[in-house]
Amino acid sequence: MPFFEDLGNAISDVAKTVSNKTNEVVEVTKLNNKVSDKTNEMNRCYHDLGKMIYNKYKSGTLFDGDYVSLCEKITECEKNINELKSQINEAKGCKVCPACGFSCDASAKFCTKCGASL
Ligand SMILES: [Zn+2]
Repeated sequence: MPFFEDLGNAISDVAKTVSNKTNEVVEVTKLNNKVSDKTNEMNRCYHDLGKMIYNKYKSGTLFDGDYVSLCEKITECEKNINELKSQINEAKGCKVCPACGFSCDASAKFCTKCGASL
């Protein structure tokens, strides 16, 4: 019975598409959680940095080199967050414009925001 076979195949194709979409959503949710973790870590560094500088200011021992390691950690967090964001765009099937960073459709040849070639 070809009709029922075709119907069966069509249903299994739909099931595959739904399953891929679910995996994509799970992946994007995981990556968004990581972005949120890194953002919290970075905010803790900002907080510690501010406290450190203020305490040194109060005790009259404020030196430039003292907060370099926290600044480096913040830069590292920013880098991680940007990497995670590009993984999110990849998981969503988006192209990121090299000129302006805008997320464009995977099939786009030019950036929808600035018109740069993708
Ligand atoms: Zn652009």
